[in-house]
Amino acid sequence: MFFAVITLFPEMFEAITAYGISGRAVKNDIVQVHCINPRDFAEGNYKRVDERPFGGGPGMVMMAAPLAKAIHHAKQLASQAGCTRVPVVYMSPQGKTLHEDKVHSLISYDGMIVLCGRYEGIDERLIQQYVDQEWSIGDYVLSGGELPAMVLLDTLIRRLPNTMSDEQSAVQDSFVDGLLDCPQYTKPDHFEGLSVPDVLKSGHHGNIEKWRFLQRYQRTLDRRPELVEKVELSPQQKKWLKDLKA
Ligand code: SAM
Repeated sequence: MFFAVITLFPEMFEAITAYGISGRAVKNDIVQVHCINPRDFAEGNYKRVDERPFGGGPGMVMMAAPLAKAIHHAKQLASQAGCTRVPVVYMSPQGKTLHEDKVHSLISYDGMIVLCGRYEGIDERLIQQYVDQEWSIGDYVLSGGELPAMVLLDTLIRRLPNTMSDEQSAVQDSFVDGLLDCPQYTKPDHFEGLSVPDVLKSGHHGNIEKWRFLQRYQRTLDRRPELVEKVELSPQQKKWLKDLKA
């Protein structure tokens, strides 16, 4: 998958390109991450990328022209990489909130050009002319779009084929089938007076699967009851729940 991130702080993306699952995906050429600094496309000695807002008010606004040139450059890189379905995405608190089903649909693109705002945001005309989608990571405001962009890249990259050493673990993650994940335990058997549930040490795969499902179901009921209403249970899962209530 192709990513071009338009950011005033390209160094921040080392967190994505150099570490963990996403870092490995870059190293193994499963994803390309290009960082493009709009300042490189700004004019004048001072290479200005921001100006005061028309109408007054606090703060600065990112200017449209350097961002437009950076987007054109990103589109050239995408086409050189043979990627055609590459929407321009603006990370914004005013966008739609990212959810599992939305993220799942975004991996079908060849790539993405991700725009990171700073200051009070970016000139509205740039958004009108160039932005295809706006995504928010939640109803709170951050100082810039870099962390939201990294959230988007990370969650997309980890679900691409061959990025995880154990692909099953993505399948079992919270939200994937609508439920939260079950509690996890590792060695040692005892920690500060607490033990690992016996069933997990029994080696009985059927009982472990049942226990994990019931834990996931109860956990989701307790913490996110609104999710349970939408879950589609398998016949086996329905039977486990019925047996529990009997
Ligand atoms: N004045 C803007 C508003 O209230 O809508 C907020 C600007 S914010 C300080 C600067 C940049 O951070 C935004 O342009 C956006 O790129 C990014 N940003 C902040 N919060 C975000 C969120 N919840 N989701 C995605 N991006 C966000």
